[in-house]
Amino acid sequence: MIMPNNLRRQYSLHADEYRKKACEVLDSGWYILGKEVESFEQEWANYIGAKYCVGLASGLDALWISFRLLDIGKGDEVIVCSNAYIACVMGITINGATPVFVEPDQYDNIDSSLIEEKITGKTRAILAVHLYGQACDMTDIMSIAEKYNLKVVEDCAQSHGNHWKNRTVGTFGNVGCFSFYPSKGCGAFGDAGAVVTNDKELSEKFRVFRNYGSQKRYHNMIVGSNSRLDEMQAGLLRVKLSHLDEFNKERCKIADRYYTEIKNPLIQLPKIRPGADSTWHQFVVHVPEHRDALAEHLKNHDIGTLIHYPIPPHLSEAYAYLGYKKGDFPIAEKYADEVLSLPIYNGMTEQEQKLVIQTINNFMRK
Ligand SMILES: *Cc1c(COP(=O)(O)O)cnc(C)c1O
Repeated sequence: MIMPNNLRRQYSLHADEYRKKACEVLDSGWYILGKEVESFEQEWANYIGAKYCVGLASGLDALWISFRLLDIGKGDEVIVCSNAYIACVMGITINGATPVFVEPDQYDNIDSSLIEEKITGKTRAILAVHLYGQACDMTDIMSIAEKYNLKVVEDCAQSHGNHWKNRTVGTFGNVGCFSFYPSKGCGAFGDAGAVVTNDKELSEKFRVFRNYGSQKRYHNMIVGSNSRLDEMQAGLLRVKLSHLDEFNKERCKIADRYYTEIKNPLIQLPKIRPGADSTWHQFVVHVPEHRDALAEHLKNHDIGTLIHYPIPPHLSEAYAYLGYKKGDFPIAEKYADEVLSLPIYNGMTEQEQKLVIQTINNFMRK
C-alpha cells in the first residue's frame, strides 16, 4: 500500500536523533516553557528570516490569537480565499469576525485581482493562505493592504520555508502563522504551532497571551489562553528543523519526477506562479472530469490519495450561518470537485513513485 503521506518513513530517516532528543527532554525534568522552546523559537525565527518567533499549541491557535491581538473581531471583515482549509476560516470567526471569500486563481491561491472589489468600510485584514506549499502573490497583497490600511496575516501552515521572490513566506505581513501538525513540512510528533513577526510589542503580547495572560507567575495582566508549545515538541522540532532543507529538497525531486513523467491528458499538473517556489506540502493535480474514478483506479492499485478539500468553507455545515449556497463561489466549488493530492512524502522510494506514475498514465487508456 502506498499511502498519500507516510510519516513513519520520514521518522525512520533520523529515528536515532529523535529518540535521543526525546530522552534528553524526559530526563531534564522540565516540560513546559524551557530551553528547548526558547532555542526552537530562535532557530525558527532565523530560518524564516523574522525577528521574533513565539511557540504556540497549534496552527489554529496561531491564527485566532493573531486576529485577537490585532484587535479584529465582531463587526470586522477579513478577506480569505474561498478554497481555504476550514481552520483558516475558523481562525477568523472564533473572534467573531466575518470571512469575506475571494476566489482562487489557476495557482490554487487567492486571486489578488479580485480582492479590491471585496473591500468595504469594515474590512480590517487579509488572511493570505499559502496553500499546498506555494506562495500567494505577496507583492499584490501587500500593496492592496497598504492602500486600504489593512493588516496582513499569513497562514504558512503548509509553506515551511518557501518563497515569494526570494523572500521567505511569513515575513511579509504583520504576523506569519505556522502549524507543526505532524504532516506539515516541519512536523512535530503531536500538535504544535508558532507565529513569527518583526513587531517586538506584538511578539510580547503573544508571549503573555499564550500563558494565561501572565508574564510573571500569578500576575495576570489580561485574560489569555493556554497555548504553550511544550518542551518535548520543541526539542523534536529542533531536530526536524535541522533536516528541513533536505526534506524540502527531496519533495521537490519527487515533484520534478511527477512533472516529467506523468503523461495523461485527463490530468492537469500543478501550476507554479512566476515568482513563487513550492515546498510541495501537497502535489495537487486537477482532474476536471473523472477525478473520483482516478482516485478509485489508484485505490484499486493500492495507492492512496487525498482531497484537499472536498467541501469549500462556505458550504461547510459549520458556516451555514453565513447563509451561502451552492453556486456562490463556483471556482472553489469546481476545485473541490476536481483536485486530487498524489502521494508525496520524505522517504518515498523511486519504485513507489514509478508505480504511481504508471498507474496514472494507464488511467482510461486501455
Ligand atoms: C494545518 C493547517 C492549519 C491548522 O493547523 P493545526 O495545527 O492543525 O491547528 C491552518 N491552516 C492551514 C492552511 C493548515 O494547513
